[in-house]
Parts: sequence; C-alpha cells; structure tokens
Amino acid sequence: MGKKELTALFSSNPDRYYKVPLFDKVGFNRQRCSKCGKFFWSIVSKELCPDHEHYGFINNPPTNKRLDYVHAWEEIEAYFSSKDHTTIGRYPVVCRWRDDLYFTIASIVDFQRVIGGKVVFELPANPLVVPQMCLRFNDVENVGLSGRHYTSFCMVGQTCSADSPGGYWKDKCVEIDYGMLTTVLGIKPEEITFVEDVWIGAGAFGNSLEYFVRGLELGNAVFTEFEGNENNFHIMKNKIIDMGAGLERLSWITMGTPTSYDCSFGPVIKKLTNILGMHENPEVIGKYFEIMSGNIGEDNATLNGGLMLNSVNTIKSIVAKSLGIQEDKLARIISPYEAIYTVADHTRSLLFAISDGSLPSNVGGGYNLRIILRRALSILEKMGWNTVKLQDITDLHIDYLRRMYPELEEHRDNVRTILRIESERYTESRERMHALATYIKKVNKKLTIDNLIEMYESDGITPEYLLEAGAIESVPDSFYTTLAGLHSERAASQVQKPILGLDGLPPTRLLYYEDETIHEFEAMVIKVIDKRYIVLDQTAFYPRGGGQEPDNGKLDIFEVVEVSKQGDVVLHKLQNGSTNLTEGKIIRGTIDAKRRNSITKHHTATHILNSAARNNLGSWVWQNSAFKEQDYGRLDITHHSALSREEIESIEKSANSVVTRNLPVSINIFGRGEAEQKYTFRIYQGGVAPTSNVRIVNIEGWDIEACGGTHVSRTGEIGLIKIIKSERIQDGVVRLEYVAAESALNYVQKLENSLDVIVRSLSSSKEKVVDSFLKSMVDTELSKKKVKAILRKVAPLIAKSVSSEAKTLPMSNIKIYSIYDEQLDDEYHISIGEKSVELDKSLIYIAITTKGEGIRVIVFAGENAIKVIAAGALAKTISVQLGGSGGGSERFGQGGGSTKYKKKIRDTLLCVEECIVGLGRTD
Ligand SMILES: [Zn+2]
Ligand SMILES: [Zn+2]
Repeated sequence: MGKKELTALFSSNPDRYYKVPLFDKVGFNRQRCSKCGKFFWSIVSKELCPDHEHYGFINNPPTNKRLDYVHAWEEIEAYFSSKDHTTIGRYPVVCRWRDDLYFTIASIVDFQRVIGGKVVFELPANPLVVPQMCLRFNDVENVGLSGRHYTSFCMVGQTCSADSPGGYWKDKCVEIDYGMLTTVLGIKPEEITFVEDVWIGAGAFGNSLEYFVRGLELGNAVFTEFEGNENNFHIMKNKIIDMGAGLERLSWITMGTPTSYDCSFGPVIKKLTNILGMHENPEVIGKYFEIMSGNIGEDNATLNGGLMLNSVNTIKSIVAKSLGIQEDKLARIISPYEAIYTVADHTRSLLFAISDGSLPSNVGGGYNLRIILRRALSILEKMGWNTVKLQDITDLHIDYLRRMYPELEEHRDNVRTILRIESERYTESRERMHALATYIKKVNKKLTIDNLIEMYESDGITPEYLLEAGAIESVPDSFYTTLAGLHSERAASQVQKPILGLDGLPPTRLLYYEDETIHEFEAMVIKVIDKRYIVLDQTAFYPRGGGQEPDNGKLDIFEVVEVSKQGDVVLHKLQNGSTNLTEGKIIRGTIDAKRRNSITKHHTATHILNSAARNNLGSWVWQNSAFKEQDYGRLDITHHSALSREEIESIEKSANSVVTRNLPVSINIFGRGEAEQKYTFRIYQGGVAPTSNVRIVNIEGWDIEACGGTHVSRTGEIGLIKIIKSERIQDGVVRLEYVAAESALNYVQKLENSLDVIVRSLSSSKEKVVDSFLKSMVDTELSKKKVKAILRKVAPLIAKSVSSEAKTLPMSNIKIYSIYDEQLDDEYHISIGEKSVELDKSLIYIAITTKGEGIRVIVFAGENAIKVIAAGALAKTISVQLGGSGGGSERFGQGGGSTKYKKKIRDTLLCVEECIVGLGRTD
C-alpha cells in the first residue's frame, strides 16, 4: 500500500480519521477537489483544494495583524503557553542523537530516538511547543529565487503524547491550531481550509490535516497512530501528535510582503539593501516577486530543480511583458534581490550549524555547509559586493534573532572565526582550482572518474567547479554514487564477522562495570565455540569497544588474546585452538592489570584532552573518533586547520592542570532523556547510545560524556599527559597523539636519551645544545659554500678529463660518460655535467647517486648529442629500470628510483649504450 492508498483508506472513514467537533461547531463542510480528488474541509464552498490556488495574500494579507518573524513566535509561544504547553528550547540543528541524520529536518526529530533499530518517541514535557530550527538541503537551487524556499527554517512544533498525562488527541489539537490561526494571527474562519492527508515518518505514520490560508500551507497536524510501515502496522501504545508549522509562513501570511524572505529575515534584508545602496524600482521588485511567489504552486513538479528554473524564466518573461520592460532589464533589476535573499538564507543556516558545532568540510553534513558557504561567497563575488562579509551578515541575524534564540550571542565570535577562515580558504582554493582547470584545458587532458575522485578527496575540487571552468564537459552521473560507495566500503571493511553459535545465551554479567578494580574473578564456562571462543556467565575482561583496546590475561592457564562483545554476550578468544575448558566448568580469570591500568589512564586522558581542545580552540571541537591502547592514545577532533605549536602547548597545559587538580571522576547511569536534558547533546562525543539508559562519565567541572569504557577515579592518577604529535588527517579533522602516565615518563626519558647523543656528538652540554647545533649548522653551510667555490674552479679541468674518458658509440659521433660513485653527490654532478656537455657538444653525461632511501639519476646531453637522444627521455628510461620515474628537457633530465634496485645500477649503466642506440633510432 502506498501513500495514495493510505489516504484513500483514511478518507473512506472521515468520521474516524478527520472529523473533529470544531468542524460542526463552526460550520466546516467536507468537500472534494474536482481536480485531484482530495477531500478538504472549509466553511465556504469551493471547487478546488488549496493545492491549486495561487497565493492571494501578497500585498493583501487576510488579517489586520502584522507579525514579523520574532514577534510571530513570541505571540505563538504566549498562546500555546496559555493552553498549558511547556516551551522547550530548540534542539541543535546538528542531529547528534540519530545516526541516520546529519541535521534536524523537522521538529519531531527532537523527540525521536532509535533503540534496537526501532524509533521511539521521548518527550521532555507534555504537551509541548518548540521553535525548532531545521536544516534541509534538497531545494538549494530554488532558495532566493522562489520567494519562499529556505535551507533553514523554523518549524513551530506542537507535540503531545496522547495517552500520557497532559495528552490530547485530534479534537483538541485542531481546536488549538484553529485558535492560533484566528486569535494569534487574526485570520477569519472562512479563510481556513483543512485538507485530509497522510504523513509517513520514520517507523510510524498517521492521518493528518494540513491547513491552508489563501493557497499557502501554514501547518500540518499529524496524528501518529500507527507503528511500522504502510504494509505492516499496528496501533501504537502511545500515540503522538506532531503538528509542524513553518514560522516563516505564519509571519508571511500576516505581512503579505512580496517574498517570505522580506519578513522572515527581519531587518536584515533592509540593512543589506542599504549597505549596498539598492533603492531602484521598488514597484518592479514588488510586482515581480508577487507574481513569482504566487505562481509557483506546491502541487506539481515545479518544486524540483530544473523545472523550477524553467518556470522562473517563463515568469520573468511574463512579468517583463506586463510591466512593459525588456527581459534583460528586468533580470538586471531582480538579480541583486535574488542574490541578497540567497545570501541571507545561506548565512542564517551557517549561523545555526556552526553555533551547534558543525564545520564546513568535504565529508558528511559538512559538505552541505561548504556548498552553501561557497555559493554565498561566489554570489557576493559575482555581484561585486566586496564590502560585505558573510560574518557581518551573521552578526545582523544574531542581532535580530537573539530575543528568540539568546544562545546565538555566545557563538558570535566562533561563527565569525569559522566564516573568516573558510572565506580565505575559498579564495585560495579558487586560485588553485583555476590554475588546475587552465592546465587541464591547455593540455586537453581527459579526466577519468578516478582522477575526479582523487582531486575531490585531496583538494576539495568539485567536478561542478571543473565543469564551470570548462575543464570537463559534464559531471559523470556516477561521481557521487562512486564516492559514496567508496566511503561505505571503507566503513564496511572494518566490521568484524560475527561468531555463530551464540543464540539463546544469557547476557554476560559485566564485572568491569560493577567494580573496575576487579582483576581476578571466578566464572562458569557457558559455551565453547571452535575450541577457542569462550563464553562465561560473568567476566571482568573489558571487550574491545568505544575505541578502547580489550584486556589481555588468562582463563585458567590459557592466554586470552582478544575479547569482543556480540550483542549482550562477551567472547574471550584464546591464543591456541585447543583447550580443556568445558561447558559447566568453574574457571579463574586473571586480567593483565598493568595493561588495563595503563589503558584506563590513556582512556581518561582522552576525555580530558577532548574538553581541553574545545576550551582552547572553539565550540566546533567534537570527538571524531578515538583509540586507546596500553601505551598510546589517539584522539581525532573536528577542527578547521592544523594546530600550531602554541595551540598544542596550551591544550597540553590545560589537560595537565586537570590532572594536577585531581578532579573526581564519577560514573552514573541516567535515563537517556534525563541525561540529554541535564547535560545536553555534548554527552554524545563517542556517538549515540542505542540504549534507553546511558552511562555518564563526569570529570567534575571539566568534561561530561556518555561512555562505556574504563576510567580512573581521580584525574591525579594519570600523572602526566604528553601530546607527542598532531596532524590534520582530513578536511575538518585533526589528530592528536599522546601518551599518559608511565608511558609519558618513558617518552620523555627517551627524548632525553636522544638529546644526550646529540649533546655528546656536538661536544656540548644540554644547556648549550641549541647554540652548539645552530653553530654547527652555520659551519656546515660555510663548508658547502667552500666546496662549491672549489668545484667552480676545478670544473673545467674535470670536464676535460670527462670528455677524454668518454666512450664513443659505434656508428655515431656521440660520446657517453657514465658514473656511479657513492662519495659524490647531486651538486657535484650538476656542476660537472653541465660544464662537460658545454665543453664537448657530442657528450652525454649520466650520473647516479644514492642517498638514504632513494636513487637519483642525472643526465646532461650536449648540443649535438640531443639530435640523437633527449636527456629527459634517457633519464626516464634509466629511472624506470631502477623502479622509479623521471623526465626533463632535451638538455637536462633527472629522475629517481628506489634503493631496492641498488644492485641493478651497474648493469643498468652498462646497457645504457644499448638504450641510447635504441632510443636514438626511434627518435
Ligand atoms: Zn486538488
Ligand atoms: Zn570514557
């Protein structure tokens, strides 16, 4: 059964699903649309449902009230509050509590949790109302053009658990919404139409009533009654009312402005037009957007990209005709407004997303943010609006919205920082992309999909840009699916194969949660699989999980090498595949306590460092992933740039001050909703907890996270946290590697030993080692200069002997000189080679040097020799034989190889003559 059949099913029983007492009381009659067959309720008789109605409120709102965006919310909140609804602060637009969504796309998402693969509803109050900012990126092309599309919008969510205390069902819901329309917005009852519909959400669905005024859908009240999908469902135990109304529309219907943007962005549009000095033709603008906003109906495919743009152009020509001006003149008048609307929308979305801890990047939801950010920047650039910066526009938004969303003020500086950095990055990457595109066009290189993916992943160069720059003819259809497949492949390869044979086993009792200090215990063997996987009734072995390595130790005399958790059962893997452990036997488990302690300290250090990084860098820092083992820890955080030495040091300092303060670490179990309300979604640093209870690890006054790992009881136990390395591992992610406790001491001692070696070889002391080193560097530089000067003096002499020692090739007057001497370096050969071919124009000079891991190949060819062979081609041939690559010009070529081929060098030089003869022929 699809949506259509469901609607028909519900509409076949309107008394049960749609009719409410209010309809009789006020006189709403059920009618059927003659065009699409939908049923609707209205006081006046109508031929068509509102889906086919043009907007009739622009420049002529159906009310005397004028409520701008923030004001509209204030009035609505007061109204719902008078109807005993609790106002809940908005949830983050970055949806941290569901794995399947990057962003909060509707108000109901706030209250949905996934437990055991099933969506459940958890309401922090009942009934409630929430001004939920939502982000959606499926209509980006239409934003700014249509007059009413957004990438972010506020959904006023009226939510209620019908069967819980305070709950109500559809009669009261419709009555309340009707009251909002008539009393808060001041709309006459005859203006309102309720349309029968169905809403299918995540794991649940229900009948719904959409309400319209003059062709504009203002809200949709969904009565979520059924659990499951359209084909397999049952009535829910706790039915949910989910009414969502776009605040942008509620405000618009009262203001009747040409576009929804004019009222929803408050004074932002006006301020921008003032800054940019746009005052021309207010009548044309008004008229155009009135027709534009009103003409794009909701009912057909015009909502979708391409078609929408076509209709935009059609409408442009209609309006131009009716105003009696040229189309291109109209476009010139309109486009600055479209640009302002788009930029205002995009900056508002970025403001919320960055405030809530997301960063523009090339991965996940960050990709959408970077797209709109770059779109906004390119619009400013195209319009020549160099005086306006994105961060100044977000400031205007905050100034306007802070009455409604006071938390935005806290993030003002953070948002400014990110937008500034990203704008600079955009300019840089534009230049790089431009150079690359020019090059690709020049050499007429055909890019494969692999090339495109590599460019995208390493430099963030999108195929769209290459298309725009004319470097490719089209974006391959499979580009994004290939890219997505690549990432899911990577994720899938990490999933371990499940061990079979655990069905029906009871959950293992987890002693490590009851008392982390248990290192020895007795337990009964419940199951032995393949002679090497042991299941016990209880265990103190910590299984691999949450980035924490598992415990090692013994079960009786058998070595445990791996511990994992499958469902509720802990599996101990023994080293050898033979064991006399049998089911029913009582055994003794011993954990490698030293290893566990060290892992525990590294693990707790991760929590400390994560908050230290956030406090030092900015609110966008989240744990991206973490790994901790016995003597090493790794924390990947979300951050925009590589860390400077100073930043690393200040993170290290704050982390160690937490150690010194010896803060208590407490662990408590909370109901998930309670934990979220009390500690916010910051607790989900390690990902979402798919359970109804969460284990909250609280480092008092410093860090609170939901975590299932092992932790010290006071931070002082960690002793020392030392960051040993940091690098930017991908766009938007920075890695911190660190050691803690004894490993930190070992690390420092090792460094000191290395320093000692240096001190001794410089005959210096620790205190003076830097001075001594710098002096030694200066000496080395001086020696190099001396050698160069000498080389210049003796080069003509050596060149002479090179020329006389060179071999003349048979059948030609070409001479060849080859040399491989481990004592001589590149610099020598470059001077001598150049001089030699200058002196002897028939000479080919080939030199090979080795240094560290590599082989270097240097080739010079004299003026006459190049007629037979080019130096670059020869360097390439030799390098390939030595396991590398090379190239160059006719006169000078170079290349390299790997020292694995060191033994081949002499042979290679011997057959060079042959090569030259061969190459010379084909050249
Ligand atoms: Zn219709
Ligand atoms: Zn933890």
